Amino acid sequence: MALIEIEGVSKTYPPTRRGGEPVHAVDDVTLHVEAGEIVGVVGYSGAGKSTLVRLVNALEPATSGTIRVDGTDVTTLSERQLQGVRRGIGMIFQQFNLFHSRTVYGNVAYPLAVAGVPQAERHARIERLLDFVGLSEKAHQHPEQLSGGQKQRVAIARALATDPAILLADEATSALDPETTADVVALLRRVNAELGVTILVITHEMEVVKSLADRVVVMERGRVVEAGSTFDVFAQPSHPATQRFVRTLVDDVPDARAVAHLRERHDGRLITVSFRDESVSQSRVFAELVRRDVEFELVFGGIEDVQGRAFGHLTLELRGEDAAVEDAVRRIGELVTVTDVPEAEARVAVAGSTGEVA
Ligand code: ADP
Repeated sequence: MALIEIEGVSKTYPPTRRGGEPVHAVDDVTLHVEAGEIVGVVGYSGAGKSTLVRLVNALEPATSGTIRVDGTDVTTLSERQLQGVRRGIGMIFQQFNLFHSRTVYGNVAYPLAVAGVPQAERHARIERLLDFVGLSEKAHQHPEQLSGGQKQRVAIARALATDPAILLADEATSALDPETTADVVALLRRVNAELGVTILVITHEMEVVKSLADRVVVMERGRVVEAGSTFDVFAQPSHPATQRFVRTLVDDVPDARAVAHLRERHDGRLITVSFRDESVSQSRVFAELVRRDVEFELVFGGIEDVQGRAFGHLTLELRGEDAAVEDAVRRIGELVTVTDVPEAEARVAVAGSTGEVA
């Protein structure tokens, strides 16, 4: 049994204005999250990610389908019973949502007071949590005295106060700069590894997914359009929405504008070689070129490391005897995926200069 089981869940909101259409915010989503996993839910604004999170937390009822959290069907519980379930689920948000009138200590104390944890026990737990997130020194400061990263660490300590099995992170790093984001991601990894908390991260930042998630689910218009291990989704994205997300981080095949630029400087044959399978080494591919006296130059692309495995797309310019180049490309195509870079089109070059690439 998975810790979170979302089965055929939909959420439809009534039209926001008279005569409008109902909004299918979440549309027949099935998603299982195993205990101990970190799952990333990716999608553009309006894809239904936040709604999905609110359904898991039972802050809103689903229109149809079932959601089980640790075996309990949250779609059928009373408000009173839901409070118990919610205690097992921590949440953090983009805007931190701290209590500004309370100190750091007071923020972390709040959920413990609500849960009725005895005073004596509370203090030790707060100290331990503040130590865990590295903010013991800041216990008596107020949120406005803290940086964004520190505020999010307070929010994480508060979310963990009642020892939840699950942490829901809704765009938790989207208001932070890249360096602070990396710190918060590192902390979330520790929350998972050291405290065994299962994490569902909602984000539109592929860097966060890449460095945090074991698995990725891509949503578009309320539906899950792609799901897989983080490595597979990055190395071979199949849905156009996923491809657009992955391209924010990985240069794969040069687009029309890049081709136009490359063609200005390189008149040899251009191919893109995609490495996805570590059983085929780069040197094996390059050896096929060397063996046939084909000269090559790397002109575009790069290699990424995801979950300790490498993949990437390298665009090469090849020069040599036509027959030798042809033979080398054919042989390399038996080892890895080879794509010919198309000729630059005059139309593209013109459009490129005006910023309009088809
Ligand atoms: P995301 O988190 O991916 O940006 P949301 O879950 O916030 O997406 O929204 C999904 C869709 O549902 C959007 O079209 C949004 O306008 C709509 N929506 C979200 N909440 C409500 C609501 N309370 N009432 C009506 N429509 C809503």
